[in-house]
Amino acid sequence: MKNITIVGGGLVGSLLAVFLAKRGHQVNVFERRPDPRKTNVYAGRSINLVVSHRGWTALKAAGVHEAVERIVVPVHARMTHDRDGKLTRLPYSIDERPIHSVSRGELNKVMLSEAERFPNVKLHFDHRCTGVHLDTGTSMFHNEVTGEASAVPADVVFGSDGAPSAVRQEFMKLRFNFSQSFIEHDYKEIAFPSKPDGTPQMDPHCLHIWPRRFFLFMPHEGEYCFGQIKDEHDLLRFFEEHFRDAIPMLPDLAEQYFRNPQSNLAIIRCGPWNHKDKVALIGDAAHAIVPFYGEGMNAGYEDCKVLNELLNQHGDDNWGVVLDAYNRARKPNGDAIADLSLRNFVEMRDLVADPRFILRKKIEGRLQARHPGKWLPLYSQVKFSDIEYKDAWKEGLRQDRIMEQVLAMPGIEEKWESEEVERMALGLLE
Ligand SMILES: Cc1cc2nc3c(=O)[nH]c(=O)nc-3n(C[C@H](O)[C@H](O)[C@H](O)COP(=O)(O)OP(=O)(O)OC[C@H]3O[C@@H](n4cnc5c(N)ncnc54)[C@H](O)[C@@H]3O)c2cc1C
Repeated sequence: MKNITIVGGGLVGSLLAVFLAKRGHQVNVFERRPDPRKTNVYAGRSINLVVSHRGWTALKAAGVHEAVERIVVPVHARMTHDRDGKLTRLPYSIDERPIHSVSRGELNKVMLSEAERFPNVKLHFDHRCTGVHLDTGTSMFHNEVTGEASAVPADVVFGSDGAPSAVRQEFMKLRFNFSQSFIEHDYKEIAFPSKPDGTPQMDPHCLHIWPRRFFLFMPHEGEYCFGQIKDEHDLLRFFEEHFRDAIPMLPDLAEQYFRNPQSNLAIIRCGPWNHKDKVALIGDAAHAIVPFYGEGMNAGYEDCKVLNELLNQHGDDNWGVVLDAYNRARKPNGDAIADLSLRNFVEMRDLVADPRFILRKKIEGRLQARHPGKWLPLYSQVKFSDIEYKDAWKEGLRQDRIMEQVLAMPGIEEKWESEEVERMALGLLE
């Protein structure tokens, strides 16, 4: 049994606590914010998250999936809204398999309660980590309520303290690779309220998107940017031009828009993710990515599952071996999902409204239906399988090259369902 400190009781830290508690370790979780079950810590940042197949695999491995199943909504398709309000439904998979939408706040609350069911887990809210001694595993905390400082020794420390990780900050003093790049887009959350009878205004089993080429999220600078919207008048004019069909569903649009924070989006790549047998990074602290594949949390959940498997393999007294193996196994996948997420940004922003993209999806759907063992579209590999991100990314690039040639076939629009097209695609696979 080890004494383990987890810095950050967010989505990943709470699942990690469950995994480690089940192994019999003494787990202390230190969270900067107050207990979300008692205070609304998610005001203005409550966007729903998608739990995908690999997220479920991890939740099942931890034995907490049933608690999460109670709070999710199945989502079967994207629904695009064009400028005239015309809707197009694009299923995520040929067999209408759903991904699952869940409120970030509700998920965090449920997971904290699941962790707290173990007598060997202690949650310490209002404790901000101010530093970690990497060689000894002693962490320093500032109590946000009393102002007191404390030093907490541990055998092993995990930094699951998200993108601005204080634990990762300590790694910067060592031989450690780090890069952070912001994309040109920021985002702001605007929630669609329910109808007066409590039912949703749009189909709740679809992810609704308004792809507008220049912005899905909004750029910093240029013709369309947050800086251009200074008052209610600008806001309404902007929505009337681009998102007219949403206006009647948002009676408090201006209030939400000017109240909610404008957040930026960054990609963080770093490594190694561990320092000897003492400290490791996990979740966004190790791999913050842009949210366009909806995989950041799922990737963090998979980190936890893989770590647990490595503990099964090497035992709970071999932390140096386990953490080195964890870094080797997960770091390439963190990099791959960062690349995949940027790619999906372009797909959601530009391509879902592009007829050639829709044609490609149809051809791929047909190939998958007729040859499921040979063709699994990239999206399905990421969202509906446990295939490692790095392998999915490689296969996706190969599929791109093949589909480029298929789409270049003369008359492809008319003959996409033909044997000839199928033969060509499968031939290129060999
Ligand atoms: C708009 C948007 C949409 C997204 N949609 C999806 C989606 O659909 N599906 C998906 O899988 N992912 C999605 N993500 C990504 C997902 O939110 C993150 O990957 C996930 O929150 C990472 O979890 P985490 O626990 O590693 O970090 P966080 O959720 O950031 O949690 C870190 C925790 O550490 C605490 N903390 C921070 N600093 C300290 C400190 N110094 N001391 C103590 N505690 C500290 C924080 O208060 C927080 O509770 C989305 C992200 C965004 C921005």
